[in-house]
Amino acid sequence: QEKEEIIRTAIRAFPDFPSPGICFRDITPVLKDPLAFCSVIDLFEKHLRANFPKIDVIAGLDSRGFLFGPSLAQRFNIGFLLIRKKGKLPGPTESVSYSLEYGKAELEMQYDAVEPGQKVVLIDDLLATGGTMNAACELVKRRNAEILDCLVVIELKSLKGAQKIKPYTVHSLLQYD
Ligand code: 5GP
Repeated sequence: QEKEEIIRTAIRAFPDFPSPGICFRDITPVLKDPLAFCSVIDLFEKHLRANFPKIDVIAGLDSRGFLFGPSLAQRFNIGFLLIRKKGKLPGPTESVSYSLEYGKAELEMQYDAVEPGQKVVLIDDLLATGGTMNAACELVKRRNAEILDCLVVIELKSLKGAQKIKPYTVHSLLQYD
């Protein structure tokens, strides 16, 4: 499809970044090109409209989920909330820790960011092992909100992140091995 091709063309691969053996997918050219950026939001909007009659809030993951989430939320006239790395949010927060390849990390959400029963869509730029998205789902679930779907621009299929976030579902615009 045309919009997918526009996005695919805009994404760059950087071998051995941030460490040897890792091929980093760089989405910054997507933001630089208004047509590519608009294509991302268009495709996410189309997917959500086709599958979910009601969405209450879009939750973006620190930090590149913040780049796409607010524009998507505007299309639905709904709010956007931030799921951040530890220590960035004021006031009462809920936090969840998860393991990275090396060490651990923590995600936080403000306690009043979402109400019990609200229908939430999560968004990030990329799904790799799924550890980050899984932790974000855990945060939303703890507030007894309903997770409708997890959106990512890119899914690295061979890392099987979609398995990790089950029973929640992931929708990706582009897939790589
Ligand atoms: P995971 O927790 O699924 O292993 O890693 C996904 C998280 O790491 C996402 O928040 C994503 O932004 C970041 N990430 C990991 N690899 C890449 C990559 O190649 N490109 C980009 N843009 N982000 C990545």
